[in-house]
Amino acid sequence: MKILVIGAGPAGTRCATRIAERDPAAEVTLCGAEAALPYDRVALSSLLAGEKAVPELITHELMALRAQRIAYRPATTIEALDRDAHVAVTARGERIGYDRVVIATGSRAIRLPVPGAELAGVLTYRSLNDVRAMLSAARNGGAAVVVGGGLLGLEAAAGLALRGMKVTVLHPVGWPMERQLDAGAGALLARRMGLRGIAFAMPAQLVAIEGTVRVSGVRLADGRVIPASIVVMAVGIRPDTALAVASGLDVGRGIRVDGCMRSSDPHILAIGECAEVEGRCIGLVAPALEQAEIAAATLAGEDARWSARADVAALKVSGTAVWSAGDIGAESEAVTLRDEGEDRYRRLFLREDRLVGAVLYGDVADSGFYLDLIASKRQVGRMRAALALGPAFAGAV
Ligand SMILES: Cc1cc2nc3c(=O)[nH]c(=O)nc-3n(C[C@H](O)[C@H](O)[C@H](O)COP(=O)(O)OP(=O)(O)OC[C@H]3O[C@@H](n4cnc5c(N)ncnc54)[C@H](O)[C@@H]3O)c2cc1C
Repeated sequence: MKILVIGAGPAGTRCATRIAERDPAAEVTLCGAEAALPYDRVALSSLLAGEKAVPELITHELMALRAQRIAYRPATTIEALDRDAHVAVTARGERIGYDRVVIATGSRAIRLPVPGAELAGVLTYRSLNDVRAMLSAARNGGAAVVVGGGLLGLEAAAGLALRGMKVTVLHPVGWPMERQLDAGAGALLARRMGLRGIAFAMPAQLVAIEGTVRVSGVRLADGRVIPASIVVMAVGIRPDTALAVASGLDVGRGIRVDGCMRSSDPHILAIGECAEVEGRCIGLVAPALEQAEIAAATLAGEDARWSARADVAALKVSGTAVWSAGDIGAESEAVTLRDEGEDRYRRLFLREDRLVGAVLYGDVADSGFYLDLIASKRQVGRMRAALALGPAFAGAV
């Protein structure tokens, strides 16, 4: 059986290797639009921060892929699928026959359509090439503006500051990472990053990027202009469904698939950030890898199904530990523990006597305990009073 995996990110690469392991007779081809060997996208922040070098990011060497009989085709973008003929067409016009396809095209970084967005020096934060562009700009020092104070924006800001740039983060809400952190933890985080020289403009609205050929600064809605030699847009991602749309598959926000990862065409599966399951697209690597395993099982004729669990977010390079999971919405009751001396903060979100979400700042050692409680939907009952103190106290009740 000829299996074509499109997209050599974490999901596509995991799926290709699992298919090859299960079926030694399968002819697996892995096509990736990027020129690099498959690499760990999550570790890009460690590369930017100088904690890792490029070779340490590579997850699959060519020899290892060959040993698994996987034909790896880098710098190969699939533009369309001729679903009647079972042929994939590359951007160079080559035709690749298939029996089954797994689409794992991931997401694209969103670029805000403000005036000046196409100037040289306006970057996004998604790929190895994006980080190479940031590192090359940082060699000249200067100032950087990061648009977006979410997880990725803060990791970009921390990395660029470590590389010697003067960094300002623009964020439309009054505290960073507002989707994962409540206002209390967000304020502590901004203060801590401020001590490392990172400035925050919050709430701030970007209206234009200034410059002629290259960026010279950004203009805010309140009239302020912040000088910058690079602008990094970290304002979110959009599932990359271009190929699926061009091929006539059922597409919502992502490529619609069932729990077995099958698309509207039974010969085509979709996994990872480009896939939409039960109306939801994921934006994290762990579920993308789980979906890769499910797709490999489906192709092997097994009945495996994927279902969503609580989202977990952890900040990697801000110099402080931040972790959040589950639903931290306003409809829940909250229990808060704040220890300013220790720079430690916890907020737990409860609904109908069950833990539904948690934010940990400063000390995240108990994250597994809280994640288990969220996932198991156990009633917290008598342990509620001690819950914020962690398992050593709450677990014993
Ligand atoms: C800097 C950074 C830090 C992150 N940190 C975390 C973290 O701490 N925790 C976490 O859970 N997640 C993190 N993420 C998100 C994580 O990287 C993604 O969830 C994960 O990469 C999704 O994997 P994927 O294989 O679905 O998609 P992707 O990794 O996006 O891979 C898709 C690949 O398909 C290629 N492609 C697209 N279209 C085509 C085509 N037509 N033909 C061929 N190839 C194509 C793309 O070029 C890309 O290489 C981070 C992301 C970034 C950018």
